[in-house]
Amino acid sequence: MSTSTPRIAVCPGSFDPMTMGHVDIIERAARLYDRVVVAVAINRDKTPLFPVDERVAIVQEVFADRSPVEVDTFDGLLVEYARHKHASVIVRGLRAVSDFEYEFQMALMNRHLAPEIETTFMMPAEQYTYISSRLIKEVFALGGQIDGLVPPTVEQRLRARRQDRPIPHARLT
Ligand code: ADP
Repeated sequence: MSTSTPRIAVCPGSFDPMTMGHVDIIERAARLYDRVVVAVAINRDKTPLFPVDERVAIVQEVFADRSPVEVDTFDGLLVEYARHKHASVIVRGLRAVSDFEYEFQMALMNRHLAPEIETTFMMPAEQYTYISSRLIKEVFALGGQIDGLVPPTVEQRLRARRQDRPIPHARLT
């Protein structure tokens, strides 16, 4: 019987909303670590399209009964949250060179704050490398097709929302 400490990874993000790029990265992490905590940022200073409870519900729905993935929310310093969860790894996705500078800075700052926690980067399947939550919202608001780019529940929820009120900040320029 193994007595080694379980390897716990945190996948943090806004997930506003979850895309197939996020799903791809979380699935890759789930193959490497004993527990994967998808940590949905509460983001008090941003105005998300989906409230945090709904962003959590989406992750729960997409990963229902898919061990070892679980979902939680977090606020404040990510490394403090990771420590609280006994995580040794932070997982981030890298799509393009444009992600690199910000991610590099964040990873080094997090290492400065918590040297015992490692950041790992994963690349999604090529067909997801151009997807971002922001672009999904813009394309959808302008009437474009997003099927296959987000989990079906996200598309349904976006449709339901559009009937209530228009999605703000549509631009795609
Ligand atoms: P944040 O506001 O923290 O950047 P996001 O929800 O935008 O939150 O992203 C969370 C994580 O998922 C980040 O590591 C981001 O690079 C990654 N990510 C977002 N979209 C994709 C994608 N299409 N492919 C791979 N990783 C992605």
